[in-house]
Amino acid sequence: MDTNLLAQLKQAIKGDVLTDEQTLTVYSRDASLFEIKPQVVVFPKDEEDVKTLVKFVTKNKKNNPTLSLTARSAGTDMSGGAINDSIIVAFEKYFNHTPKIHNNIATAEPGVYYRDFEKETLKHNLIFPSYPASREICAMGGIVNNNAGGEKSLQYGKTEKYIKKIKVVLADGNTYTLKPLSETELEKKMQEKTFEGEIYKKMHRLIMDNFEDIVKAKPQVSKNSAGYYLWNVFDKDKKTFDLTQLFAGSQGTLGLLLEADIELVPIHKHREMMIIFLHDLSHLDQIINEALRLAPESFEAYDESTLKLALRFFPEFTKLLGTKGIIQTAFSFLPEFLMVLFGGMPKLVLQIDFTGNDPLKLQDKIIELKEKLTPFHPKIRIAVENQEQKYWAIRRESFNLLRQKIRDKHTVPFIDDFVVKPEYLSEVLPLVTKIIKKYKGFIYTIAGHVGDGNFHIIPLVDITDPKIRQSIPVIAKQVYDLVHEYNGSITGEHNDGLIRTPYLQQMYGEKIITLFEQTKHIFDPNNIFNPRKKVFGDMDFAMNHIRRNW
Ligand SMILES: Cc1cc2nc3c(=O)[nH]c(=O)nc-3n(C[C@H](O)[C@H](O)[C@H](O)COP(=O)(O)OP(=O)(O)OC[C@H]3O[C@@H](n4cnc5c(N)ncnc54)[C@H](O)[C@@H]3O)c2cc1C
Repeated sequence: MDTNLLAQLKQAIKGDVLTDEQTLTVYSRDASLFEIKPQVVVFPKDEEDVKTLVKFVTKNKKNNPTLSLTARSAGTDMSGGAINDSIIVAFEKYFNHTPKIHNNIATAEPGVYYRDFEKETLKHNLIFPSYPASREICAMGGIVNNNAGGEKSLQYGKTEKYIKKIKVVLADGNTYTLKPLSETELEKKMQEKTFEGEIYKKMHRLIMDNFEDIVKAKPQVSKNSAGYYLWNVFDKDKKTFDLTQLFAGSQGTLGLLLEADIELVPIHKHREMMIIFLHDLSHLDQIINEALRLAPESFEAYDESTLKLALRFFPEFTKLLGTKGIIQTAFSFLPEFLMVLFGGMPKLVLQIDFTGNDPLKLQDKIIELKEKLTPFHPKIRIAVENQEQKYWAIRRESFNLLRQKIRDKHTVPFIDDFVVKPEYLSEVLPLVTKIIKKYKGFIYTIAGHVGDGNFHIIPLVDITDPKIRQSIPVIAKQVYDLVHEYNGSITGEHNDGLIRTPYLQQMYGEKIITLFEQTKHIFDPNNIFNPRKKVFGDMDFAMNHIRRNW
């Protein structure tokens, strides 16, 4: 950034404005396969700072067309959503006050880590049920802006369902509170001669004029983070108009989030977990059907590579499991070591969790499922005395273990989050793995939310090899063609970012993409918020910013 402009920025902001090499290097990465060096990282101190930043960029954009603002909370985005080439607005330092909880609503700032948020909600016996697997390392700003989902989304749905009100700074540099509006409130809002009034007027027209197409465009799978959720804004039955639904999953492309009111649910007192070790997948469809019929709270899976990884790095689980030392941890993994030794490595491990307040009902479900699965002869284990913690740790931590522990290979999330209806999984998974196997140098792990048909395939590669980097968009295209064929979504929870925005056109078609672009233009006429994400994707830019080393 030009020194004069930087001096003006430093003068205007009370928080920290940093341009040192070390900070720029840290903020040039998130959990994606990309690396983009920003020009400045700003840690706004308060709401006034955020407003000043937006006004500063708007004012200087004309003479500095590449100026933009990319919000960041904990920076664990896997799609390149939290990195860019201009100003990074980092919320974790000052926007992290303890959440306030009133009745069943928590008011949280974006920089509050989920692990701290949950400590507060548990004091009230409440929980936010759409926390992601990155629960220990991510923050609330990213949860809202990625429309995060997780292990409980099968029963409870995703973040979008729990956002009740948000405080945002919009492109005019002012703060607004968005919440569902009744017809009368909407009429009043649309009369206002403000930037917000204009947004309501234009968005109302856009949605009403295209309502049939918008409703038809809603992906017919249980989870979706792709695109802007135009279909969720106008609720025909309740007659409400709710712009918070556009911010859910918008990756900071429509404005900057200062605060969110998030609904919580009571925690269930009891749980029963069944683990199924499948040595062949021939009955996967039937097993999925039987389990889903009993309405589990979560239904997760991981493949043999993930289990191998957990067994190889079992000492890493000592802290996570709260075991006293390596010997005790080894002891807890003994049944799995023995199973592999005598029975071979299972192809897929299924993990089914039933929760509720009546333990007898849960036990009945386990007995019933066991009976229903008998004809398929799977190897079943029922988790007793906190054993379920071990299985959850394997499921949640596999990607993190890959990122941190494998030295000569790198995790490259690019086909990491597709969704198809669960009944298609046994067809789609082998087709996807067949595509990957055609390319030399791509090994992978698979883990995911079977109940939602949402799978995380994370290839491990030597990213320094140019042939590998060239294969990434080639493989992605084939996998997303397949997802399109099965009417799925290219992302259930990790969102579009740099890696998937170019594939939105194929998923939604030209008409809906035009509506997404118009939506972006209504909120952000000068394209100051997180360019190239959600709309106007740029595959060349993305490919030029794949990391060259780790
Ligand atoms: C090991 C691992 C496991 C994961 N598992 C899951 C999973 O199970 N489910 C899931 O959904 N995701 C998962 N993710 C992805 C990611 O962790 C989550 O989506 C998480 O919610 C992102 O939170 P964050 O605070 O790190 O967000 P960031 O990375 O900081 O930001 C995410 C997006 O939100 C935008 N944003 C952040 N703060 C603001 C703000 N204040 N205003 C406007 N925009 C903002 C950013 O610009 C970016 O586009 C995983 C990631 C890792 C590394």
